[in-house]
Parts: sequence; C-alpha cells; structure tokens
Amino acid sequence: MTGALAFEPLVPVYRPAAPVFVDGAGSRLLDDLGRRYLDFTSGIGVNALGHRHPVVVRALREATEAGLLHVSNLYRTRPAAELAAWLVARSFADAAFFCNSGAEANEAALKFARRVGRTIHPDRVEVVALRGGFHGRTMGALSLTDRPAYQEPFEPLLPGVRIASLDDGVDSVVDEERTAAVLVEPIQAEGGIHPLEPDTLRALRVACDRAGALLVFDEVQVGLGRTGRLWAHEAAGVLPDIMTLAKPLAGGLPMGAVLVSRRVAAALRPGDHATTFGGGPFVASVALAVCRHLGEPDFLAGVRERGALLGEWLRALGGHPNVAEVRGGGLLWGVQTVGPAAEVVARALEHDLLLCTAGAHVVRVMPPLTTPSGELLEGVDLLEACL
Ligand SMILES: *Cc1c(COP(=O)(O)O)cnc(C)c1O
Repeated sequence: MTGALAFEPLVPVYRPAAPVFVDGAGSRLLDDLGRRYLDFTSGIGVNALGHRHPVVVRALREATEAGLLHVSNLYRTRPAAELAAWLVARSFADAAFFCNSGAEANEAALKFARRVGRTIHPDRVEVVALRGGFHGRTMGALSLTDRPAYQEPFEPLLPGVRIASLDDGVDSVVDEERTAAVLVEPIQAEGGIHPLEPDTLRALRVACDRAGALLVFDEVQVGLGRTGRLWAHEAAGVLPDIMTLAKPLAGGLPMGAVLVSRRVAAALRPGDHATTFGGGPFVASVALAVCRHLGEPDFLAGVRERGALLGEWLRALGGHPNVAEVRGGGLLWGVQTVGPAAEVVARALEHDLLLCTAGAHVVRVMPPLTTPSGELLEGVDLLEACL
C-alpha cells in the first residue's frame, strides 16, 4: 500500500495534489484507488502524445532491445546524429546541441549568446528577457525569469541580465552596444498564455539585426506541435538565431535541445560547453520517433482542427461570471478567471479533470495533442461545472 509516509523523504519544494497515479492511456490517468481522470495538463506539456502512445512504447521497446543507453559525448552515436539532422531539416537551424531539460537548454543558449557577443566586442554580454517570461529555475535561467518570488530567495542573480518590458517599446529591449541576445517565448506560457503579437516578434527581429544581437526563442513549452504548427514562431513568420526545446521532445524522457544558426555554431569550439548525459542514444532514439510522429503534416493538421474546436468551446464560456478572457491557439489555451485559478483547478480535480494554472488568474488547458474531440468537449463541460 502507498501512504503519505512513502513520500515524506522528498525535499518539500513541491505541493503535489492528492492522487497517486499508477497508469494511464491516451488522455486518461488512473490513480492507485482505481479512479480515472481526464488529463488536461499533459504533464506540463511533456506528454504531447498522451500516455502509453504506441509510437513511444514501440520506440522505448526497440531502444531497449537493441542499441545502447549511454556512451557519453566522447564518442559519436547514430540516434543523436539522426535527431539533429531531423531538427535541422525541419527548422531554421544548422546545428543542434542536446541536453536534459528546458532550463539546461536556456543555460546553453545563454552561454552560446555570450560566446557570439564577445566575438563582436568584450562588453557585448547582456542577455535580455521579457516581463512575464519564464525560462527555468537554474541560476542563469532563473535570472532570465521575471518572477520576483522565485528569484529573491536566491539572490544575487546572474549579472549582465536584464528584464525588459514591451510597454516601454521594442527599442528599449535592445541595447545597441551591450545586448548579446534577446530571449523570448513566442507565447508566454507560465506567464498566463500570452501570445506575442507577430508585429512584436518582427520588430524584435529588426531591432536585434540592427544591433547585431541574437534573437532566441524559448519554445520549450509551445514548440513541437502544441500550436498546431511544428514551431510556434511559424505563425509570425519570424526566424530566431537560437531556439530552445525540451518538454515534449522525448515523449516523457528528460531531454532538451538548443538549435542554432550557422553563425552561432561557427562561434563555438570544442570544450565551450558540455553535458554528460546530453543526446544519449536511448533518449535520442525515442525523441526521433516522437519528432517524426509530431512532425507529420496530418498530425499537425489534426491539432489545428481540434484546437479550433477547443477554442470555440472555451470561448463559449466567456459569458460565465468567473471568466474574464479566453486566449490561446492550437491545444494550449488560457482561461482568465476573476477569482483564483487555483480554486478552479482544485474543483476540477474533484470532478476527475486535471488542469493546472498559469499564474494566479489563468487556468491552463493543455491536453495531449492526441486528445479526440469527444474528450476535449468532455473536459470543457467539466471545466464549466467548476468555474
Ligand atoms: C518549463 C519551461 C522551462 C524549464 O524547463 P525545465 O525542463 O523545467 O527546466 C523553460 N522555458 C519554458 C518556456 C518552459 O515552459
């Protein structure tokens, strides 16, 4: 039997909800008491293919029965090379670096940006992120994350980092002398599901080009099909110099990636960066299977179709007295509530619907990309009952 005692030795940095999940399939999760839930969190965007997807199960089985778990980056292995080739072929990028999480991907992007900046001038080391952004919890990524409550207990933060507000105009974001890179989420996810306007992304691109700074897109949460396009930035038609990926990349195994342009790759040398586990053959072979599946035009078209339906149904909640606004696209939506979003999430759990918040007043709706329309509607009905 499970019990509270079994979990007590964990460092108390999380506040987990009561259920103890033991199994799942598709968009359903099963707890140890036999209760079934509809999962509209996708493990915070990780389970894009839902639970126990045949593509992931098969890739895991094949990677277990043949091939290697790990050899380190002292040697080359085929899955990492194939995954890099796939990502490069499907994006702006010319090269990939593999790591183990979103925060790590942003740490690498930060280092790469400074490496490039210094080739222009020794003072060009500043990295700018946006108000309301989220980039992770390690010291560098945390310094780029606009959350005083996350930051203050761990000060001093990284020097040479600045949080800029778009309210002060795009020109205030880039310092022509000092800025090495501007890091943005094309859709701010943790910050409340706020898509950046295509015009804003275009203006940031122009400002970075004018200053010789790099534009970095953090697509850790919104990349790889979440918006119904492979990359969230496709909607704006603006290309970055660096893009970070993680959450859904390896179907639930921990993996991050940094995709870079030729200019960035050309500034890096052996020894500039490294990670022991990054791009290991096991995780890379599973990621390759996930990417090939997510990247199919029919799969992405399905996300757009069902995303449009989900948006329509959620917008119909707009008249509810506890709903201030509904925002989003693809299969990532935010329902801005008048009261605390955490109360809606807690009530939804009682109704067997798993949701999470994105800030104090936004309920995040993020089902697996495989969720059929019938289950999307079921979830919206449950959500309505919890508002
Ligand atoms: C989750 C997230 C991260 C951090 O990823 P971890 O794997 O938790 O380190 C970084 N950026 C964005 C946009 C995220 O949503």
